[in-house]
Amino acid sequence: MLRCGKCGNTLFAAARSETKERRVRRYVCLAGPDHGGCGRLTVVAVPVEDLLVDAVLARLDSPGLRKALAGKAKESPDTAKLTAEISADTARLDELAGLYADGAVTAREWMTARNPIEERIQRAHKDIAAVSTDGALYELVGTGESLRGRWDELSIDRQHAIVKTVLDHAVIAPGTVGARSLDINRVQPQWRL
Ligand SMILES: [Zn+2]
Repeated sequence: MLRCGKCGNTLFAAARSETKERRVRRYVCLAGPDHGGCGRLTVVAVPVEDLLVDAVLARLDSPGLRKALAGKAKESPDTAKLTAEISADTARLDELAGLYADGAVTAREWMTARNPIEERIQRAHKDIAAVSTDGALYELVGTGESLRGRWDELSIDRQHAIVKTVLDHAVIAPGTVGARSLDINRVQPQWRL
């Protein structure tokens, strides 16, 4: 899922021994007939992986992803109606929150009115997921913060599946020679949607 920012080739995982005790995992661009890369880019693995997980979870909760999904859903007649219902219900929730903020309704009234609307929104998301090619993404959207809280408890397979659902690939830009830590600008995620 990582590509070389110099030549565009896929990066490969490699462990190089820094000292006898410490092996540092890296991603490297490999040259030669088997790999075809430029062989001139390397990056330490762990900070890149941490950064990408962080970016993926933030992406799940971002307005950008919601917008992209809503835009795609509008293209299909099956999902257009559900998407319109979600927008209308989201507007209702905003209105209710406004009434509560103004003191026009009590907290109890607010919550009583809010719960069925939230359930309806969740159900509509599930219905869209069932008919959409982006189903996995629909099921994950909005769950970034809760996933973050239990990320380490998820299996590696589940972690990979989540990252793959959101991220198409990431380009690793060339680094500065002698840099001690990863420059976050080197990691450029390309989202699936
Ligand atoms: Zn390269």
